[in-house]
Amino acid sequence: MRVITEIAVTQEPIRIDSMGRHVGDPRWIDVDSHGHEHRFDGNELPTLEWVVTDTYWCGDCCDEHETGEWRCRKCAAVVKPHWNFTGPLTEYIPGLSDVKVFTRDTELPGLRATYFLRFDEADAVFAAGDRLAEAHKIVAARDPDATEYRDSAFAGP
Ligand SMILES: [Zn+2]
Ligand SMILES: [Zn+2]
Repeated sequence: MRVITEIAVTQEPIRIDSMGRHVGDPRWIDVDSHGHEHRFDGNELPTLEWVVTDTYWCGDCCDEHETGEWRCRKCAAVVKPHWNFTGPLTEYIPGLSDVKVFTRDTELPGLRATYFLRFDEADAVFAAGDRLAEAHKIVAARDPDATEYRDSAFAGP
């Protein structure tokens, strides 16, 4: 009888290099002519709204562009927020889950097998509250006769 001895769950982060982007300057504060204070909340400008003042046809992009201005939501005063450019960035986002399931045979301890789960299966295991039980369900579905899930399998080889 085959039992699961170990599952190895990893999620390799994906590296993303970019030229950079504009982020709201956290030090920027402006008070308009009516005494309303404006600042960034993260990258948002909750007290301002973007008002499109003109659209024009751009021959370079063969597309329409907009020009506009930021205005106070209360008094419509024009405000000029300040963004900082980050410069080149290296960021990491969660990548695909990778799950390997290791099994051994209770009668023949030398008989071991490793199951490499498909990406969708691995994601299901990664997201599951009980990863071992989910891994067992998947392996058992592939190999219904040979696999049994027993917690004691984790006690040792
Ligand atoms: Zn253009
Ligand atoms: Zn205002």
